[in-house]
Amino acid sequence: TLISRTALVTGSTSGIGLGIARALARDGANVVLNGFGEADAIEAARAAIESEFGVRAHYSAADMSKPSEIGDMVREAEEKFGSVDVLVNNAGIQFVSAIEEFPGAKWEQIIAINLSSAFYAMQAAIPGMKARGWGRIVNTASAHSLVASPYKSAYVAAKHGIAGLTKTAALELATHKITVNCISPGYVWTPLVEAQIPDTMKARGLSKEQVIDEVLLKAQPTKEFVTVDQVAALALFLCSDAASQITGTNISMDGGWTAQ
Ligand code: NAD
Repeated sequence: TLISRTALVTGSTSGIGLGIARALARDGANVVLNGFGEADAIEAARAAIESEFGVRAHYSAADMSKPSEIGDMVREAEEKFGSVDVLVNNAGIQFVSAIEEFPGAKWEQIIAINLSSAFYAMQAAIPGMKARGWGRIVNTASAHSLVASPYKSAYVAAKHGIAGLTKTAALELATHKITVNCISPGYVWTPLVEAQIPDTMKARGLSKEQVIDEVLLKAQPTKEFVTVDQVAALALFLCSDAASQITGTNISMDGGWTAQ
C-alpha cells in the first residue's frame, strides 16, 4: 500500500486528477492537491479526502505555467509531509483552432501547462526520490500522445512531448527504483471534454450530438467514454510493487482508438 507515502497530483481539483488523488489516498497516501477552481469546492474535496480515507491532504494553488511556483509546491509538500514519493503530472488544458488562427499565447500556455510543468515538477521531486531510493512518476498523456486530430496542434505536440519526456526520465532513473510511465486515455467524460464541445461545434459547424457521435466517440471503437475511476485504478497500479518493472511505457486506455 501507499501508507506513509506522499503523492502530489497536479491539476487535481477536478476530473482525472481528483480521481487519481482520491485513489492514492484510499490506498493510504497523504496527498497534495493542486489546481484552480472555487475555494469552497476545493476545500470540500480536500476535507473529504481526509475524512473518508484517514490521510492528510494539503492544497497548493501553484500555477503550472510558472516554473518557480512548481518548485515551491514540491518543496512545500516535502516540508509538510516529509517527502514526495509519487508525482502525478496531470494538469492540462485544451484549445481547439486551426493552426493559422491559433493564438501564439495559447500555444505557449498549453506547452507550459501540459508539457513543461512535468519537466519542472520532475526536476524538483527527483532529488528526494533518489535520496530515499523509491519513487513513482505517472504522467497523464493522452491518445493524442500517439495520434493526432485536426485543430489540436498545441495539445497534440505537448502530449507527444510528454511521451518522450517519460521515456527519457525512465532511462535516467532506471537504477534508482523510480519508475516513470504515462497513461494515455481516450475520451474521458470530464469538464475538459465537456468544455471543448462548443469550440468543436464552431470549428466544424456541427451540433452537440454530432460532436459527441461523429467526432468524440467516432474515434473510440467501444463507443463508450473511459471513466475517471478506470484511469485512477491504472495510476494506482503503476504505483504498486507489482509494477516495479514497468517503466518508460505509454499505456493506452482508449477503447481501441489507437489500435486503428
Ligand atoms: P479537467 O479540466 O477536469 O482538469 C484539469 C485540471 O488541471 C484541473 O484541476 C485544473 O484546475 C488544472 N489546471 C489547469 N490549468 C492549470 C494551471 N495552470 N495550474 C495548475 N492546475 C491547472 O480535465 P481532465 O479531463 O481531468 O484532464 C486532466 C488531464 O487528463 C489533462 O492532462 C488532459 O490533457 C488529460 N486527458 C484528458 C482526457 C479526457 O478525455 N478528459 C483524455 C486524455 C487525456
